[in-house]
Amino acid sequence: MSEKTLAAVKTGPSTTELRELDLPDIPADAALMKVEVAGVCGTDVSQYRLPLRGAPLIMGHENVGYLAKVGREFAARKGFKEGDLMFLEHYLPCGHCEWDHMGEYRHCAATEWFYDPKAIRYGYTAMDTAPGLWGGFSHYLYLPINAVLHKVANGLTAEEAGVATPMSNGIQWALMDGGVGYASTVLIQGPGQQGLCCAMASKQAGAARVILTGLSTDARRLEVAKSLGADDVINVQEEDALARVMEITAGRGVDVVIDCTVGAGTAPTLLGIEATKRRGGTMVVQGEGNQEFPSFPIGRLTRKGMTLKSARGHSYRAVELALYHLAARRFPLELMTTHRFRLSEVDYAIRSVGGQGAPGAIHVSVMPWT
Ligand SMILES: [Zn+2]
Ligand SMILES: [Zn+2]
Repeated sequence: MSEKTLAAVKTGPSTTELRELDLPDIPADAALMKVEVAGVCGTDVSQYRLPLRGAPLIMGHENVGYLAKVGREFAARKGFKEGDLMFLEHYLPCGHCEWDHMGEYRHCAATEWFYDPKAIRYGYTAMDTAPGLWGGFSHYLYLPINAVLHKVANGLTAEEAGVATPMSNGIQWALMDGGVGYASTVLIQGPGQQGLCCAMASKQAGAARVILTGLSTDARRLEVAKSLGADDVINVQEEDALARVMEITAGRGVDVVIDCTVGAGTAPTLLGIEATKRRGGTMVVQGEGNQEFPSFPIGRLTRKGMTLKSARGHSYRAVELALYHLAARRFPLELMTTHRFRLSEVDYAIRSVGGQGAPGAIHVSVMPWT
């Protein structure tokens, strides 16, 4: 008789059931992860509502856990051993394209889940792709040889390391894509997990002024933001955001804008363009699948000599820096890691991130063994 694992399986739109599954045999070139923490983010909220694209699946793409079984070849090639605490990236790259050699797995064609139905991504891939354990809302995860793993530094708990996904996005978008550094002025729009992590990364990197915007419903998050790197917070529903930014920057505008307001329409982009300094500013924007932008003021960008970049995912290096950042404990992370849930509460955990479950959720963890 084979060993069993318990998993929260998405069986339809906004529907999850607990299922007992067989643990697969682990070949020499694979490993098995015992999941300690699976983070829940806004992407889970939007993905959870969608119909299945085929067979049921196990969601959970922000995973931290211990290596429970490690095949001989996997150990030899990767340098990890049983018992190691690891952060797992959700990409499963081809391993031989130019992007993979640069640690830019997010650009690898094999990870492009939106266009390639056969692409495997943790938290997105259906269970009929063997051996089916492709999500973190489960006791165990399957790791093929191309799994991208990072060792969790000494002293970091699994729950803290669970913040590595939004933190690596914050480092990627603010520092690497936006170019935030010493003395930068930064406008970050949207105080969710990504926005707060952009604020922490900017402050850690030496930014002179970090400004964060949100709505009236974000009051608690804007308060928390002041402890997580934000010098100024603006409620865009109650204040003239552009006037405040100009006042804070003595009329100059900011060096870098990072728009983390996915789904908020065109207003944040327009604010970002106006709030950017006269010449040479950069705006990093997280867009949405079919989002359109009629009358996009491209001329304003040209006149300002602005650079527009896309915020999407993170590089290998950004994750390493995120783990370093978290281990440094400069900011009170516990203000951000607000909720923990059991495997049987996955549905409620996702609803909480979507604002329809437990109140005050910022970073939410599913801890399958509690
Ligand atoms: Zn995520
Ligand atoms: Zn590749």
